[in-house]
Amino acid sequence: MSIASSQAGEFPRTSVKPLIGVVEPFDGECLMSVLARTAEKNVFTRVREMVESAGLQVLRPEFIPFTQVQAAPGLSKLLGVESGVIAGLMHPASDPERPVDKVNWYGTHLPRKFISIDRRFSPKSFASSPYIRAVWQVRPITFCPESMELLITQCPHCGAEVGWRVLHGFHVCATCGRSLRHTRPRENRVAPAVRCSGRGPSG
Ligand SMILES: [Zn+2]
Repeated sequence: MSIASSQAGEFPRTSVKPLIGVVEPFDGECLMSVLARTAEKNVFTRVREMVESAGLQVLRPEFIPFTQVQAAPGLSKLLGVESGVIAGLMHPASDPERPVDKVNWYGTHLPRKFISIDRRFSPKSFASSPYIRAVWQVRPITFCPESMELLITQCPHCGAEVGWRVLHGFHVCATCGRSLRHTRPRENRVAPAVRCSGRGPSG
């Protein structure tokens, strides 16, 4: 049974074997980041492998459909994190009759197309706290509110799309193997709107 085809109350919780390595979600962390960190801790190279090892399936490789709240109990058992916490990281359709229209983004209803499934990040913020902020998933937000860096999806070293694989670890580019922390993007620019306001980072 796939997450997509599961209906509320039908999720196969009993078939899910809890993982040994448990991570605690950070404030503001997105669900995929929690899953990727958990995958690394349990020596999986792909989030999909970890989820499917528990009998769960995903709609597409490397990304869990964040609207499928009925998957929260199963993910909770898998990850060892309270179901309410997992459900709080998901974003159900604002109108179940129109699931591809808008989603509930922490109480704000946003067009679903605004939510990126790419791994967008600010190298500077990632270096200070290595997790992916949920706010970085919102496409119209082009820069990190913490570092004021433009959000990027590519490795600063080799230019490959970073994605959600954890082949060499969550902090490392799956293509070239170099660290995504303590690095600067190739174009480490401050967003123009911020530069004009004089609120850019010091130094
Ligand atoms: Zn790379």
